[in-house]
Amino acid sequence: MSLTVAKFGGTSMGSAHTMLACAEIILSNPNTKVVVVSATSGTTNLLIELAQHSINQDWSGSEQIIEKLLLKHFDIADKLNSPEEIKSEIKNIIDEAETISKGIFYLKEISPRAMDSLLSIGERISSMLFTQALNLKAGKEVAKVFDVRLIMATDSKFNSAEPQPNEIKKLAEEFLIPNLQNQIAVTQGFIGRSKKGETTTLGRGGSDYSATLIGEAIGANIVEIWTDVSGVATTDPRIVPQAKMISEITFEEAAELANAGAKVLHPQTLLPAIRKGIPVFVGNSFKPGEGGTWIKSETKEKPMIRAIALRKNQKLVTISSLRMVNAYGFLQNIFSILAKYKISIDLITTSEISVALTLDQPYLLTEEIIHEISQFAEINIENNLSLIAVVGNEINTTSGISAQTFTTIKDHNVRMICLGASRYSLCFLVNAGEGEIVVQKLHKTFLEN
Ligand code: ASP
Ligand code: MG
Repeated sequence: MSLTVAKFGGTSMGSAHTMLACAEIILSNPNTKVVVVSATSGTTNLLIELAQHSINQDWSGSEQIIEKLLLKHFDIADKLNSPEEIKSEIKNIIDEAETISKGIFYLKEISPRAMDSLLSIGERISSMLFTQALNLKAGKEVAKVFDVRLIMATDSKFNSAEPQPNEIKKLAEEFLIPNLQNQIAVTQGFIGRSKKGETTTLGRGGSDYSATLIGEAIGANIVEIWTDVSGVATTDPRIVPQAKMISEITFEEAAELANAGAKVLHPQTLLPAIRKGIPVFVGNSFKPGEGGTWIKSETKEKPMIRAIALRKNQKLVTISSLRMVNAYGFLQNIFSILAKYKISIDLITTSEISVALTLDQPYLLTEEIIHEISQFAEINIENNLSLIAVVGNEINTTSGISAQTFTTIKDHNVRMICLGASRYSLCFLVNAGEGEIVVQKLHKTFLEN
């Protein structure tokens, strides 16, 4: 039996109308046995706002949001002809949100643990509503809600919990797979459960990750990620209107693109699919007929240049010391300080006496860290840079790519260049104001003909 896991994002769950369109996608493929949903669009943000009002002692603000949450979901429930039990179940879940917010209000404090329980509410409600949408569309009971916390084992790092794939697989075999014979399981993305039974979340946007983890755990053949764009494009179409959708791309290329800021799946999301070689399809739930992008281990074509990405707000950190000449341990000193502060490095180049690097989350570089590094080296920080990544195949061994790249953009000053480390990308920094034009020129050279 071929088995598909399908995941829908918040915009796809935005209204009764979009839910019914998504139900049609599911019902048109008899292999889809598990559906993973995000909260309805805007709900996770509303829950965060709710926590903020509560902690700021603004109970009337909190009440307004609770009311808004109730009305929003009741409205969808009504439009889906939901029976009273579903509405009273929604009411119970929203009462839970109210109780948690009251706790926050009285304690003037919000623990990460309480926050995760609060955030879980969005997905718990949307999964109930989408189950109703499926049953309504099918005209009979084809789907049932499945509480993902029965299988989504995580550690206790609230707000960004780490899933435990082996445990998830064991639990899925016991609790989920037996349900899939003659029923579609609709379950929650984003949320999990710690060993102690506490509700956790995988971090913002974590539902895609939930889908690939479940796909891995149940041995799915395909994971579909339904969103509001028709797949992965050769570059951001807002920068280059001629950008085209890519029909197939390898996991490695997709990961390079995501790291370089393209609107693709988060690289971590793909890990379970990579481990099991499960093809991931990214499609548009609003235009399912338009096709989408397959992300997989092998693609039929492996073009030298597949896509170009732009990532803004980069900081270039240069650390130099004359003592680095013929010395050892210099890099280790730098890395251990960055590791101590949990700072993740993106790109790096070195010379005999200096190291230049960019950071994944540049805002994490605090004065304290800069001070610590400046004890043994000179540190210099340049802001207002953009990272450009030219992504494709065999980039580090094909002659002429850098010549063609830098001739195309010869009028622009290029800062750090990273070439050689990856078969799949050539990356460099340019001045922030020139990022778009550089992407346009490169797209024209490599991807329009
Ligand atoms: N609802 C969560 C969020 O908005 C998770 C997700 O949509 O993936 O971040
Ligand atoms: Mg989302």
